[in-house]
Amino acid sequence: MKIDIVTIFPDFFRGPLDHGILRRAQEAGLATIEVHDLRAFAHDRHKTVDDRPFGGGEGMVLKPEPIFECIEALNVASREGRNAARESVILLSAQGKRFDQSVANELSSLERIVLICGRYEGVDERVGQYLADRELSIGDYVLSGGELGAAVIVDCVTRLIPGAVGNQASTQQESFTTFLQAEPGNGPSSTCTSGGLLDYPHYTRPADFRGMGVPEVLASGNHEEIRRWRHRTALEKTLRNRPDLLDQAALSDEDKKLLGGS
Ligand code: SAH
Repeated sequence: MKIDIVTIFPDFFRGPLDHGILRRAQEAGLATIEVHDLRAFAHDRHKTVDDRPFGGGEGMVLKPEPIFECIEALNVASREGRNAARESVILLSAQGKRFDQSVANELSSLERIVLICGRYEGVDERVGQYLADRELSIGDYVLSGGELGAAVIVDCVTRLIPGAVGNQASTQQESFTTFLQAEPGNGPSSTCTSGGLLDYPHYTRPADFRGMGVPEVLASGNHEEIRRWRHRTALEKTLRNRPDLLDQAALSDEDKKLLGGS
């Protein structure tokens, strides 16, 4: 997969893309990530990329010309042809649709994504209207720039590319993951999907840490009991921290009984 990031602060991405899964995915050729300096597409002596807002008001707005020119130089498909080319040009924006695990899944199946990072008061609206095919927000808060959002999206999407995470089953049983795949007989890890719930609690050694123990069932070797325990604790944690997710989750009658009783 090809990922392009358009920013006025290319150095910002030194670091976030260079560790762990992201680094390995790039080394293995699963993801090619390029960062483009928007100022290289400004033509005046001062490399101006922003200007005052029409209609007055606070702050500065990123101008459309350098952004359009940059995207054109990247040779992405036209807006009409992008679906067919499996490409997406994304504007990071607090006003965008909310980025979540299902959007990450969708993006990870594309050939190419281009992420445009705004700054200042934002980006000339024509970028969202005529150039990008979607605006994405990483949450209901205002950041000072799109770079952190782009890094979040690159991280989430890259780890979903097949082969990026050593054990791919592990990306299917995480928090928020809604698709179910039950393959009986493969032990607890591959049969325990999140079904749209939060992930279950994880423990590792030591079994006794300063008097704090580990649930006994996890050492029982009984895969079915472990699976049930993990599912029940995932339900409880979701009810406690994110009850909103329960509306969309795939709940069995037994789950509903468990929730009703707590
Ligand atoms: N005036 C804008 C905020 C501009 S913040 C508003 O009120 O909506 C400057 C830039 O930061 C934005 O152009 C966008 O690229 C980025 N940004 C801010 N919050 C974001 C969020 N929640 N998700 C994604 N990008 C965000």
